[in-house]
Amino acid sequence: MADFTYELGADGVAVITWDVPGKSMNVMSLEGFALLDSFIDTALADAAVKGVVITSGKKDFAGGMDLNVIAQMREGGAQAIFEGVMQMHKVLRKIERAGMDPKTLKGAKPIAAALPGTALGIGLELPLSTHRIFAADNPKAKIGLPEIMVGIFPGAGGTTRLVRKMGAMVAAPFLLEGKLSDPKKARAAGIIDEVAEDPVAAAKDWVLNAKDADLVKPWDAKGYKMPGGAPYHPAGFMTFVGASAMVHGKTMGVYPAAKALLSAVYEGALVPFDQALKIEARWFTNVLMNPSSTAMIRSLFINKEALEKGANRPKVADQTVKKVGILGAGMMGAGIAYVSANAGIEVVLIDSTVEAAERGKAYSTELLDKGISRKKVTEEKKAEVLARITATTDYAALAGCDLVVEAVFEDPTVKAGVTAQAEAVIPEDAIFATNTSTLPISMLAKASKRPEQFIGIHFFSPVDKMLLVEIIKGAKTGPVAVAKALDFVRQIRKTPIVVNDARFFYANRCIIPYINEGIRMLAEGVSPTLIENAAKLVGMPLGPLQLVDETSIDLGVKIAKATKAAMGDAYPDAAVDEVIFWMADQGRLGRKNKAGFYTYDEAGKRGGFWEGLAPKYPEAAEQPDLHEVQHRLLMAQVLEAVRAFEQGVLEDIREGDVGAILGWGFAPWSGGPFSWLDILGAPRAAEICDDLTARFGARFETPALLRDLAATGESFYGRYGSGIAAKAA
Ligand code: NAD
Repeated sequence: MADFTYELGADGVAVITWDVPGKSMNVMSLEGFALLDSFIDTALADAAVKGVVITSGKKDFAGGMDLNVIAQMREGGAQAIFEGVMQMHKVLRKIERAGMDPKTLKGAKPIAAALPGTALGIGLELPLSTHRIFAADNPKAKIGLPEIMVGIFPGAGGTTRLVRKMGAMVAAPFLLEGKLSDPKKARAAGIIDEVAEDPVAAAKDWVLNAKDADLVKPWDAKGYKMPGGAPYHPAGFMTFVGASAMVHGKTMGVYPAAKALLSAVYEGALVPFDQALKIEARWFTNVLMNPSSTAMIRSLFINKEALEKGANRPKVADQTVKKVGILGAGMMGAGIAYVSANAGIEVVLIDSTVEAAERGKAYSTELLDKGISRKKVTEEKKAEVLARITATTDYAALAGCDLVVEAVFEDPTVKAGVTAQAEAVIPEDAIFATNTSTLPISMLAKASKRPEQFIGIHFFSPVDKMLLVEIIKGAKTGPVAVAKALDFVRQIRKTPIVVNDARFFYANRCIIPYINEGIRMLAEGVSPTLIENAAKLVGMPLGPLQLVDETSIDLGVKIAKATKAAMGDAYPDAAVDEVIFWMADQGRLGRKNKAGFYTYDEAGKRGGFWEGLAPKYPEAAEQPDLHEVQHRLLMAQVLEAVRAFEQGVLEDIREGDVGAILGWGFAPWSGGPFSWLDILGAPRAAEICDDLTARFGARFETPALLRDLAATGESFYGRYGSGIAAKAA
């Protein structure tokens, strides 16, 4: 069985069908590409062939390039990547020219693409090289070039062709944001040419009737002008200047792929088409050689998918959840109810009053109505989802639940009470999960009759948007509970990480020191503008002061008090407390009361820094270097991640990296904390820590593991990259 098959019909149309054996979605491999090339040669050489249709044997056309292949390509070095990409250009260009006489532009064989469903990445770049693209009227299909999302850009001609087809301005959201469209929208945007009930039949019909002129791409015809203007055209000039500013504003210059993409577009627009492809290939090579793209592909694609597919799932029977009980219909419970019901799971949503339970259910109504207004949800779907949620105060309704998720007040006594109440009703083999963010799982498990069936399933807020779920094993949690939690997370289509029980688990443990470091700097006299911008310029979505405004300053005070009570004299954050306790005393509780480190208007829109900050924390005459501020902000988080790994809280660095990006937005360009340390190299990372320790204290001390890697010349991924097994070995 091969990735492509070739069949010449009695009508003279050769149909090349993409159907990668053993996969539900086609992905392009180098072997597949070579086979496609040979079939194109066959078709072009055979006089009996009047035209060619390229389609798929699956319900979708293709998901893109096999990213594992891209990761491997990098190992061959820059020259090998460049040559490999140029070979792809050659094949796609051959399809585009299809035997045409370059002078008269006549004599080409018509080649069309027929897309039954989704067509992404190379799965769209290949159709873009054909003469006409037909897509089935399949509203579920996604069409686009999402490469930028994993730190690369369309490098098989997609960049050059789309810009020449639509103009830089119109192509921008598809290339720079990886925007995906359904077939009708893709047709309206001009990415594809026709939406047809039977795209293969329509494509065959078209190739049999196409004229010479239909087969000449605009950029191959005489007098071609780029839509919207090339860079030195007055309109084009405006576009390119604007696009550069916009991209820089959005990416803060930390995403090499966005810069390279813009360069490929700009430079490519100044030269003839074939030259532009070469430029695209060079920039693509540049991006692939950048460690950021390797790290992003590894974390955001390969490892994220591995975790979603159960890389760390214990080998026990299927634990698919059928009926979930949710205790507490507050902010979190309501969100968990929505995502569960949306995934087809029956939900019993319990609160202490009927009003509170109903309010929790109403949250689902609200989200579904929003979906309807955006045409993403139908009335039938809304009715179905709502019918799955029973809002009640009656614990007896939990009978038959195979999973319970508790999200009541953050109070051990309240939690113990509801645990006992639920366990009196649910089946013996049901799993009980708590959504606590700060209480130890092993301590809460003491309220359970079956601690091996007790586990933490920690969601992030807002539940419907946040992609990560942290699963926490208590001291006695057994493998079935872990599998249950993982199967549940798979059902609701989120990404899981599994960690051991320790203060703040993983994500909050790392993000708190980031906030604290920002606050310490403020108290030291570092300009708040420098602190916030330094964070954003290194790829953090929010500066530490904005983040604490968002999560609320009184929550910070509460956590600080609880941590201090637990740690006693060893508590290291007095300098931070001074600031946040003072802020709380001033009534500056953060965004929710429209007063924090920042000012907010009546509508809650953020303004500048609060004018009360400067008199209390005057800016020092001498300000630190930008890199120093960035190193402090990143190391504060990263060292906590390394310690979590050293202590066995985190068992798999892949989870550490994926969890950091999805959980708190850790600089995605880096691939995550462990990937960032690998990019720096352990010796350089240790040197930075030693320097920070000397100047700012023991919290930056180089962890023994990092020092060991520096001494042996290893990297985190070199030693632990394949997960738990690698660690045990
Ligand atoms: P919330 O105050 O919005 O909701 C708690 C709900 O529990 C309320 O509706 C309350 O009426 C109900 N409740 C209290 N006692 C009950 C009882 N005995 N029986 C039934 N219902 C009862 O709180 P929240 O923000 O949704 O947090 C809930 C849990 O989730 C906490 O453990 C919290 O630490 C955790 N958590 C919160 C966040 C967050 O961002 N808010 C994130 C992750 C985890």
